[in-house]
Amino acid sequence: MERDKLTYDELLSEANELRLKLEEATDTLEAIRTGQVDALIIQGNDGHQLYTLKTADQTYRMFIEKMNEGAVTLNQHGLILYSNSRFAEMVDMPLEKVIGLSFDTFIAYEERGKFKEIIKSAWDAECKEEIELLSPNRKLISCLLSCNTLELDEGLALSLILTDLTIQKETEKQLKLRNEQLAEAQSATEKLNDELEDTVRNRTADLLISREHFKLLANNIPQMTWTHLPDGTVNFYNQRWRDYTGLTFTEEGYSREQVIHPDDYPLTMERFHATLKSGDVFEVENRYKGADGTYRWHLNRAIPLRDETGKILFWVGTATDIEDQKREMEKKDEFIGIASHELKTPLTSLKGYLQLVSHKKESLPETVRQYIDKAISSLNKLQRLVNDLLDVSKIQAGRLEYGLRPVDLTQLLKLCTENARHVYPNYNFENNAVDGLIVNGNEERLDQVVMNLINNAVKYSPSNNNVTITAVRYDGQVRVSVTDRGIGLSAEQRGRIFERFYRVEDKKFMSSGLGMGLYISQEIINNHHGKISVESELGKGSTFYFDLPLVN
Ligand code: ADP
Repeated sequence: MERDKLTYDELLSEANELRLKLEEATDTLEAIRTGQVDALIIQGNDGHQLYTLKTADQTYRMFIEKMNEGAVTLNQHGLILYSNSRFAEMVDMPLEKVIGLSFDTFIAYEERGKFKEIIKSAWDAECKEEIELLSPNRKLISCLLSCNTLELDEGLALSLILTDLTIQKETEKQLKLRNEQLAEAQSATEKLNDELEDTVRNRTADLLISREHFKLLANNIPQMTWTHLPDGTVNFYNQRWRDYTGLTFTEEGYSREQVIHPDDYPLTMERFHATLKSGDVFEVENRYKGADGTYRWHLNRAIPLRDETGKILFWVGTATDIEDQKREMEKKDEFIGIASHELKTPLTSLKGYLQLVSHKKESLPETVRQYIDKAISSLNKLQRLVNDLLDVSKIQAGRLEYGLRPVDLTQLLKLCTENARHVYPNYNFENNAVDGLIVNGNEERLDQVVMNLINNAVKYSPSNNNVTITAVRYDGQVRVSVTDRGIGLSAEQRGRIFERFYRVEDKKFMSSGLGMGLYISQEIINNHHGKISVESELGKGSTFYFDLPLVN
């Protein structure tokens, strides 16, 4: 009744106050509705109190909206109360249509029994299982399903979090594939490795066999054999070498001086080092000292063994005992020496008598005169042969001696050419010797060399009759060449034609001779401090040339 007594103004002010409070309450409600505030502080009987609003889970909702997993809340009948957009996306359906549907809709038919069991147990305890989701376009999505119960105002609900395992599954699949490929590669590698090991084992066995084979062979041949490295260090001697020398091969090797005759040592070493450098075949004759202290002649040969790039790996050397052959040769030389010497005197007197008879030619019948001329020509040939034989035995005995004095080589070549034109009227001789070539030499012997080269040029040019003689100066020397366009020589023949008694065995082209001319010529040129050599091609012709030091 107190209130009835309030004045009109008092009532107005109360009404205003209430209106203000109402406006304030309306604002607060609006702020709550729009989510602008999460909590309120209210003045109560017990002072200020903080009230968080249900909308305070805004942050979590945002978080749930944005997360990569599907989030769904089910009621006890399995109907979807809430779904985030990610889940709608996963099942490829608009969000508003998803809410209110039974979750079963999205389970693959064959998975539904399993899903029922999971859900049933999930109401009692949280769980995690893998499940296949079915999108409306019948695409299966592998998911990890984790279930938790939620207590909502409306009652108990089930929160489902669905993690899309597609990428993970794909990655796993890829990983599995890669692992399988890796295992495959590994087993292929292992197989290859096994094969390689087998090959190596077989090769090692082969190598062992071939090494034993080589050793057996090397130790049983009658020659001394060794192998040496590109620097000349010997790394193997055969049993024959040890037996012959009486030396034991140690790591340090042995000094070649110990076994090679002192007179042969310098030439042996000179050739040895030269071939190590050039890679050519090493060949030298020398005397080896036996275990009993006596020397025997040996022919040494060593050939290089190269790899596929041509690099020398090592050398294989042999020393063959040629003592008996040497003795035979010496006997033969001795016989040749005596025989040619014995032949020389009767030949000279025979020639003298023939010349005497030929002086009285006019008084003789024509046929007899012709016989005498033929006899003189044959006798000349025989005399040349005997002289050559004598020269060879003198060279062997180291007695081919003659004095040296200045010789006009230009003049000598001119005379030789004239002589050749006279002897071989069917051949063309061109002489290109320059003027004034003076050498220190023996005229008779140099004449012998040039005539031998010219004779050969004619003899070995059956179908081309042009022979060129040249002499040029260079570096204080003169080079005299005799060129023909005849049968020519192969590389192997070129390497041997200066040997004593060597003749090319050619069945198509037979010629007379004993293989002494070039051997004697080489000896003469060497004695003149010069060098004789040949350039030739089979079927094309040859150029024999010698170099001599000039005195002017
Ligand atoms: P021969 O008396 O046999 O001619 P040489 O010592 O003068 O002896 O020559 C040795 C060998 O060299 C000859 O048998 C021949 O096969 C070869 N020869 C020499 N000169 C020539 C040449 N100009 N052309 C081809 N081969 C040649």
